[in-house]
Amino acid sequence: MIYSGYVNRLVSELAALPGIGEKSAQRLAFHMINMPPEKVKRLADTMIEARSRVKYCSGCYTLTDAEICPVCSNPSRDHSVIMVVEDTRDMAAYEKTGKYTGVYHVLHGAIAPMLGVGPGDIKIKELVTRCSGDDPVSEVILATNSSIEGETTAMYISKLIKPLGVKVTRIASGVPVGGDLEYIDEITLTRALDGRTEV
Ligand code: ZN
Repeated sequence: MIYSGYVNRLVSELAALPGIGEKSAQRLAFHMINMPPEKVKRLADTMIEARSRVKYCSGCYTLTDAEICPVCSNPSRDHSVIMVVEDTRDMAAYEKTGKYTGVYHVLHGAIAPMLGVGPGDIKIKELVTRCSGDDPVSEVILATNSSIEGETTAMYISKLIKPLGVKVTRIASGVPVGGDLEYIDEITLTRALDGRTEV
């Protein structure tokens, strides 16, 4: 044990976060320990407040501070067109293009049997409910990633939604395989959306 127990605890908490390895965790831990106490408090408070105040939009399940997100509450959006994305960051990427006028449905993940993520672990049931509700749905655009998990999820959803009489489309694969939508530029995203085909 080179470090104190508290340092070790901080390092192991940080190292448990996604994308942070042991080295980065140590670097962050030492940085935090050398920060002025009021800055550490602000960071900790922000984390706690974000965790407790941010919730799922009751319409599309994106993360929002309000009961209903700005996209869902915008009357000039086409509420009959629903784009299905894996997470809120994907939604933000499409919003940045400024070309999409429909609404979204955020799954919060993709089906990944190897990781123990089944259809019941993401917001698929909620999508089916939206598609079979009173508000008419003219199209569901499957914009999950082009990874194996994203494709599996898209296929699974189309099998559930099509029997409801809703047109189901898949975005064009201009998006590289395994590519996270959030890293793909706006032109590619717009092309993928424009080139979508019925499945
Ligand atoms: Zn919403």
